[in-house]
Amino acid sequence: MLFHDVLVIGGGLAGLRAAIAAAEKKADVGIVTRLYPPRSHSGQAQGGINAALANNPKAADDTPERHGFDTIKGSDYLADQDASIFLTEQAPEAIFEIEHWGCPFSRNQEGKIAQRPFGGAGYPRTCYGTDKTGHYILQTFFEQTIKHDIKTYNEWIVIALAKDVDSCCGVIAVNMHSGQLEAIGANAVIFATGGSARMYGNTTNGLTSTAFGVAMPYWAGVPLKDMEFVQFHPTSLYPSNILMTEGCRGEGGILTNNTGERFMQKYAPKAMELGPRDIVARAIMTEILEGRGFEDSYVHLDLTHLGRAKIMERLPGIRDITLDFIGLDPIEKPIPIQPGTHYCMGGIDVNVDGASPLAGFYAAGECSCVSVHGANRLGGNSLLDTVVFGKRAGAVAADFVKDKPKQARTNALDRALKGQQEMLDRMQKATGKENPYKINAELNRLMPLKAGLFRDEKGMTEGLQQIKALKERLGKMRPVASGGKFNFDRIWALEIKGNLDVAEALMAGGLARKESRGSHYRRDFDKRDDKNFLKHTLATYTPAGAQLSYRDVQITKYQPEERKY
Ligand SMILES: Cc1cc2nc3c(=O)[nH]c(=O)nc-3n(C[C@H](O)[C@H](O)[C@H](O)COP(=O)(O)OP(=O)(O)OC[C@H]3O[C@@H](n4cnc5c(N)ncnc54)[C@H](O)[C@@H]3O)c2cc1C
Repeated sequence: MLFHDVLVIGGGLAGLRAAIAAAEKKADVGIVTRLYPPRSHSGQAQGGINAALANNPKAADDTPERHGFDTIKGSDYLADQDASIFLTEQAPEAIFEIEHWGCPFSRNQEGKIAQRPFGGAGYPRTCYGTDKTGHYILQTFFEQTIKHDIKTYNEWIVIALAKDVDSCCGVIAVNMHSGQLEAIGANAVIFATGGSARMYGNTTNGLTSTAFGVAMPYWAGVPLKDMEFVQFHPTSLYPSNILMTEGCRGEGGILTNNTGERFMQKYAPKAMELGPRDIVARAIMTEILEGRGFEDSYVHLDLTHLGRAKIMERLPGIRDITLDFIGLDPIEKPIPIQPGTHYCMGGIDVNVDGASPLAGFYAAGECSCVSVHGANRLGGNSLLDTVVFGKRAGAVAADFVKDKPKQARTNALDRALKGQQEMLDRMQKATGKENPYKINAELNRLMPLKAGLFRDEKGMTEGLQQIKALKERLGKMRPVASGGKFNFDRIWALEIKGNLDVAEALMAGGLARKESRGSHYRRDFDKRDDKNFLKHTLATYTPAGAQLSYRDVQITKYQPEERKY
């Protein structure tokens, strides 16, 4: 049976960084990844990665501490403060490491790593490689995994965790090339399966960013934390919702409505377009809902005043996207944009070591919730999160496995394999009529309406009922396609089940949180309520739905105050 000391699931930035860290500690590491690593979603990250390097002349007195404060304030005080401070303290070293590994960051006049302003940040501290930062860092990490000779199972899709009594002992995966189900044993498993924004139809995320990655540990008894906090990015291209990076506003782009008004002066008079994402996204949506948008659907992101040279140097990828997808040149005309579902602040419940409550099971990157982003993530802090906590989880997992027997726990793995094989066989022999894709399309439609930028009791109650009805329909599914090699039909059916169960946890958490905080904005409770809700939501899976409990937020340095920008 296949076995690795440490098994990493996911070949994006968090997964690769975790694998490198474990390999540096001489653990025998394997990576299982659905996508060939350089094709992972991290490669789409455009705008940059934050670190208080103080390279920009306007940021000479920037410090990791100030970065920490901005992150905590941006989180609407739901972040665990020691964790956020750890993140920002590690940031400069993390960037220098990536630089020394050969990442081609853009440079300023002095030849230092260039830094641009991003939303909710007191200083220009977002390091970038034009508007392709994620792509450059991902290639850099991929080279390191080759250097360390890390075994990678490309186009293998994990479908379940394997548990031995009360610890994780590996995973069950489908080798898409052969169609075979395989058990892989490990003493530590690190999930780095990325974000879940594909529960929503109006998303900036690629097709593989479904909730399946967080659903697997959820089904295995690991709680999900703060799932109700979903980030809606202010500027996604209308109508496809492809991301228009915050770097556009960082470089001086402005937002205007159908009267030509630069409306952010009403919502964030000091920060303007560089307010935090929750505030800017709500401002745009308010303009549209109150009739000051175009075609009731979008406002303008105007870059025309930046001029050709700056756009070609700093935002060439953005220009390519608008030319390719809507035939518009941002050098000449403003870009039609609207908010799009972008990022999950919530995820698998882990601590700063990436450790979950299940022994031997770790998570890092967007699928996890440490929590450093709380109720609203700052742009540029997610790439940082993948790099810092990926490294940490890999190193801690390598220490955890050091003295463990180096062999697969075959009884538990065989049991898990048999269980998953029987489940797939049942799906193939199903006698129902329901089309899973139609069910997912309905979920995609309802999520922005019932748990979108603006929420209330009525909408979320209806949303919860609708999700339960969709779950019942999924139970009466038509048989999945037969055949083994690259049979995505059965994988997608499992992903849809994951989307539904996690969406249910999200909706239940949102309904119970009777306050507005960061990205979770309720029209019926429009104020933050620290007395009752300065706490993390934990959702534990039961077949009847999510069971909610709560945990205190770690407030160690900064007392919560009203956010003003
Ligand atoms: C368009 C866009 C632009 C962004 N720009 C920025 C930015 O400029 N700065 C910033 O800080 N953040 C940005 N973000 C957010 C950031 O890119 C992501 O949060 C981050 O890259 C996620 O990295 P990850 O390693 O956690 O996941 P991913 O990069 O999504 O990797 C997930 C990996 O898991 C694998 N996987 C998933 N499920 C399975 C399975 N069942 N079995 C096996 N393998 C599996 C996938 O193949 C993939 O390799 C952006 C996000 C988007 C959508």
